Amino acid sequence: MAEQTGSAPGAQRFIPPEADTIDALRAAAIGCRGCELYRDASQTVFGRGDESARVVFVGEQPGDMEDQKGLPFVGPAGRLLRKAVDDAGLDPRHIYLTNAVKHFRFELRGKRRIHQTPDRVHITACRPWLVAEFARLDPEIVVVLGATAAKALLGPTFRVTRQRGELLPWPASAQHPEDFQRVPVDTEGKVADAPEARLLATIHPSAVLRADDQDKAYDGLVADLTVAARALAA
Ligand code: SF4
Repeated sequence: MAEQTGSAPGAQRFIPPEADTIDALRAAAIGCRGCELYRDASQTVFGRGDESARVVFVGEQPGDMEDQKGLPFVGPAGRLLRKAVDDAGLDPRHIYLTNAVKHFRFELRGKRRIHQTPDRVHITACRPWLVAEFARLDPEIVVVLGATAAKALLGPTFRVTRQRGELLPWPASAQHPEDFQRVPVDTEGKVADAPEARLLATIHPSAVLRADDQDKAYDGLVADLTVAARALAA
């Protein structure tokens, strides 16, 4: 499908400045009309998990099951990701999971809803939610799952296939790192040094499910996540 070049008003106007928790953001995101994807999807699927997680995962968009349940990563790809997280030595109970785009984009074929990759216009429109989530999270490692999340966080020139499994500085590697720059304040109210965080890109778990050699693709995903686990343990 050709990339949509149109524009969308974007999510920023739907983010209340006083929303200072993930729960408050999640509640506000229910009413987002920042792009047209809300019209056909069942509901907004916001991030979830441990808000003090050391590892934050960013995927593409909710799938069919996530759209129905209103929760991210609860379908087959999500189950595979949890297994890979576990196999890599990360604790699946202490992670935060979100997506670059918060509504399911699909095409109807008969009664089936077929996943459609979000276009740049959707990624751009939805990015303010991602920025707002990061302002309320404090990860040590950000794991980017697949090309759409990489576009949202790192810009259009980043290639997951070339740089997967590599630890990069965060937010210095982001497109517009200032969007993700936290200004930590110490107990005396002084600006403190921001703790160092890293970013690691890998394939989306759905790519494992689509791969001809699923075992090899799964091992590659686990190997990349193991790099993150070792970095946390160091
Ligand atoms: S996809 Fe994002 S920007 Fe578009 S309506 Fe949904 S939450 Fe808003």
